[in-house]
Order: sequence, then C-alpha cells, then structure tokens
Amino acid sequence: MTSRPPYDQLVGELREGGVLESVQCLLEWDQETLMPPRGAERRAEEIALLSRIIHEKKTAPRVGELLDRAAGEKDLGPDARANLREARRHYERARKLPADLVAEIARTRSLACEAWKAARRANDFPKFAPWLEKTFHLAREKASRLGWKDSPYDALLEEHEPGMTTARLVSLFGELRKGLVPLVKAIAGSRRRPDRNLLSGKFPAAHQEEFARRVATDLGLDFSGARLDRSAHPFCMGLTPDDVRITTRYNESDCLSALFGVIHETGHALYDQGIAPELVWTPIGQPRSLGVHESQSRLWENQVGRSRAFWSHYLPLLSERFPSLSGVAHARSGRGADLDRFHFAVNQVEPSLIRTEADEVTYNLHILLRFDIERDLLAGELAVSDLPDLWRSRMASDLGVRPDTDADGVLQDIHWSIGLVAYFPTYTLGNMLAAQLHARARADIPDLEVFFARGEFRPLLDWLRDRIHRHGSRYETEELVQRAVGTRLSTAPFLDYLRAKYSPLYGIS
Ligand code: ZN
Repeated sequence: MTSRPPYDQLVGELREGGVLESVQCLLEWDQETLMPPRGAERRAEEIALLSRIIHEKKTAPRVGELLDRAAGEKDLGPDARANLREARRHYERARKLPADLVAEIARTRSLACEAWKAARRANDFPKFAPWLEKTFHLAREKASRLGWKDSPYDALLEEHEPGMTTARLVSLFGELRKGLVPLVKAIAGSRRRPDRNLLSGKFPAAHQEEFARRVATDLGLDFSGARLDRSAHPFCMGLTPDDVRITTRYNESDCLSALFGVIHETGHALYDQGIAPELVWTPIGQPRSLGVHESQSRLWENQVGRSRAFWSHYLPLLSERFPSLSGVAHARSGRGADLDRFHFAVNQVEPSLIRTEADEVTYNLHILLRFDIERDLLAGELAVSDLPDLWRSRMASDLGVRPDTDADGVLQDIHWSIGLVAYFPTYTLGNMLAAQLHARARADIPDLEVFFARGEFRPLLDWLRDRIHRHGSRYETEELVQRAVGTRLSTAPFLDYLRAKYSPLYGIS
C-alpha cells in the first residue's frame, strides 16, 4: 500500500487549521454583534482554547516533517510551491515564539485593553502608561525571538505586511510627507469651503440601512454569501468566500458616515468573496496582506464612493430616499450646481484630531506620526512618559491642530493596547496601492467613470478580481503589485490623485 504524497498530507493537516480558524472568526463575529453581555467571560475561554488548538496544529513537529519532505517532491505546480512557501513562513514564525510568551502577550492584551478604555474615559494617560510600557516590552521580546537584521520593527511588520521592511517604509513615507504637508497647508490657506449644511437632516437608521444595502449590492457584493449587521465598531470578517460578514453603525443625524463605512467594508468583503474557491483553507487562500486588503476598501470608499461620477448616479436616489436632506431637494437631476456642491461637501479637507474621522488628504499624516512613535518606542529611543507632549507638538506642526486632552491625542486608538505594533503603516500602504490600482484600472478601462455614472461597477470589480482578488496569497506582495499595475509600490499615483482632485475643489495651483 502506498501512502499519500507528503504534500497532499500537509495540505490535509493545514486544512483542518483553516477550518478551525473559520470557526474562531464566527465566535468573534458573534461576540461583536449578537452575543448577550453575560456571554463574554465564557466566550473568552472558548476562543482561548480554540486559539491554543490552532497554534498547536500549526506548530506540530509533523507539519515541519511534511514541509521538509514535500519540498523534495518533483512535479509540484506553482500553486503547490506557493502553498509550501506560505506554510513554511507561518510555521517558522509560530515555532519561534515560546508558548509562555504567547500566553503572556494574550493576557496582557486583555488587561491593557481594559486599562486603555478606562484611561481614555478618564483622560488619564499616566494610568495607561505602565501598560504601554509592558506592551512594548513584550513586543521587543517578540521581535527578538522572531529575529531581525536591521530593525526590530521589521520582525513585527512581517506579521501584517510580509516582505515589507522598515527602511522601505521610511523612504516611502518620507516622500509622502513631502507631498502631503504642503498640500494640507495650501488647502488650509484656501478661502473656498464646502457647505456641510447640505448634508444635515434627520435620517432613520432603517432607511440608511436599506440604502447602504442597495449601494453594496450595486458595487457587486453578493448577499447570498454575505451579511450586513450592526456593531460598535465597523468591521469585515471573511470566514470563507461564501460567508463574509460586514458591520456598520448608524448615526441618525448623518446619512453618509454609515454609507461610507458600508462602502469601505464592502471593499474588504469583495476581496474576501473573490478569492478563488479552490484555494479555500489552503495557505494561499488567505488575503495577501493587511495593506492589500485596505487598498480594496479604500479604493471603493474614496476613488469610487467619493467621486463626482458616483454621485451623479446616487445623489438623485439619495435625495429621493431622504427628502429631509437639506440643500439638495432639487438634486433629482444629479447634474450641475447641486452635484458640484454635494461632491465638494463629501470631500471636505479639515485637519482634525481624530484619525478615524480624517479625510483622505490628512489621514496619512496621522499614520506617519504613529509609525515614527512606535518605531522609537520599540527601539527604546523614546520614553513612554514623553509621548503626550510629543504627540501634541507633532500634531501642531504637521496638521496645525493641537489636542487639549490625551483622550483626543495619544489615547485615541485601541491598537497599541491590544498589542498591535507595526500595524498602522498598513493603512497608508493601502491608500497608496488603492491609487495605483485606480490609475491603472482607468488606463485599462477608459470609460470607467462613465460606468460609475450609470451605477455600473462590474467592469472595475472584474478587473480587481482578475488582478488581485482571485490570487489570495499566491504571489508575494511585490509580485502581486507588479503584475497588477506594472510597477512597484509607489507614492506618486496617490499624490497625483490627491492633487488632481483637490486643486480644482479648493482653487489651488
Ligand atoms: Zn479597512
């Protein structure tokens, strides 16, 4: 009797880990959407057990043996080779982290997160400071276990953005900064201001949800394999391409924040739905990276959802659905002055304190600040106690605004409290890649905007499916980007996109 070839055995082993990860996602989704409050404690235990089993499966010596034996197999196709590459990467990373360090990080994460919530509510940074020290201490320990050559930040970055390096980020972000700071200043100096009153009114959540579902469906989201629910913080969770969950929250005095949130999460969901079915529960069935994922959400949210062409189709529908929308009562034609005023209003640039509320011009300056800080904290070149002052002065010099409280400053984001270090840059990488993909799609599909103006998004979706979605993690990011747009990741298309869009809006040259 001949046994199955090692590669087939390996894929079988890893598939079970993939199935368990889908189950874990479902438990987490439920926790954020439907679970009653008293369920929290036992849910934590359920999730902890499942994560331990998944970790054990991934690091089992048998996986290592199969990886070695499979590497010697002849006649493996390119996808099998890519699976071995990804499986090896996950295996080696997981093996380098001792179980007690993993457990300590998990414990600290839940305690630090509670401490952060309390400190933010009380605007009391010193209360959170020891937890931040501890989080970065553990992150340093983790980096040293994983190993690094040039910077400990590289070791952590690899988890969220495989293949990216700190040195490359420093160079890309330096270019970005050079382009963004003068643009923000020029816009701040302009006398033109959009009329945000156009967007005021009263908008029942049920109507907003109905409208958001319609837009998500138009964009291409297949609701026979997706759900839209409510949660405190919007997110997208792809269990498999056939079961993708997105969430949003509604503000009844704002008819657009939930809509843009749904468009953003729909962008994530379209990626998850588009991964080739034959890759499911294999290592390359995962989305490529957080940056690539964010490029999908940002492209749909900004390059599509905040475009004039998009609103020439949807403004008449919006004003029909929400007759109380001020100022656009006569916008049924979707043309002319109303459309221009509305388009300007949804593209207001206003330096502000809070990252998640930032417009697409100022947003990345918030990220660059966090990138510099976390790098210095990790390298031990910055004391936690110096953070609040540093934050204030950098916000003032970059954005011209200065937080009065730490709650609106250094305490605003959850990320560090839950141990996510070297995660923020993926947002900016996503913005950059979104602009590159958009520029290339426009070159390949000359009538792209004409389609948008008719509410037709299939040409763009098909293009993204072909260039990005279906491949999952088949290619490393560098190769995926090169194949999709013909060049490396770069800042120029994003800066060009911003200048082309905002110069006429704000009348700057
Ligand atoms: Zn996102």
